[in-house]
Amino acid sequence: MSLQGITERLQAAEREHGRPTCSTKLIAVSKIQPNERVHAVLSDGHRVFGENRVQESLKKWPAFKKEFEGIELHLIGPLQSNKTRQAMELFDAIHSVDRPKLSTSIARIAQEIGHCPEIFIQVNTGLEPQKAGILPQDTDDFIKGCRALDLPIKGLMCIPPAEKNPTHHFALLAKIAKNNGLSGLSMGMSGDFETAVAHGATHVRVGSAIFGERINVDGQ
Ligand SMILES: *Cc1c(COP(=O)(O)O)cnc(C)c1O
Repeated sequence: MSLQGITERLQAAEREHGRPTCSTKLIAVSKIQPNERVHAVLSDGHRVFGENRVQESLKKWPAFKKEFEGIELHLIGPLQSNKTRQAMELFDAIHSVDRPKLSTSIARIAQEIGHCPEIFIQVNTGLEPQKAGILPQDTDDFIKGCRALDLPIKGLMCIPPAEKNPTHHFALLAKIAKNNGLSGLSMGMSGDFETAVAHGATHVRVGSAIFGERINVDGQ
């Protein structure tokens, strides 16, 4: 696949499911990918990228930001509290807000630096013990807490259990978002982004289908 191929499939899915054209943002997930591949996608005109590690992103993106204008960066992986400030300075959106300690520290740093990335709350729709995210039954309260801190909450994010049908997870995420008046839905990856569009995804996170397989060094 390629950027163009995925863009076409995304637009076809929007048409098929009665969604307005370009209502779904395509986040090209460039984690671990060699710089040449990322450079090629930038040269093709794409500007919205996702990364899952702050450290890796700090090495990679400042140079690309000098070379290309209008880059928009999304942090989609877990955020350690001690990297919060660096993440807020580099990223335009954080999709992985998953605990009160993190939301509190984002709110405090936002006051200090005078801006805040768009916030997505990660929900553990599969109730997986090893996976990050707020449990579905706790999400309403967590959203209230974030609103009390004045965080710019864009929406919710989920990573459904691997190898399972994601439909139920996408539908659950959409329902919790709707109940809370949130419009953003970050869901859908290479294998299931069309299903996510059918369930109202506003942001899909597609990596390997755009860039090719990652050389998987540490199980990511
Ligand atoms: C790596 C990753 C993706 C992209 O996965 P692909 O299967 O390569 O499309 C999406 N979301 C998150 C949170 C990821 O870590």
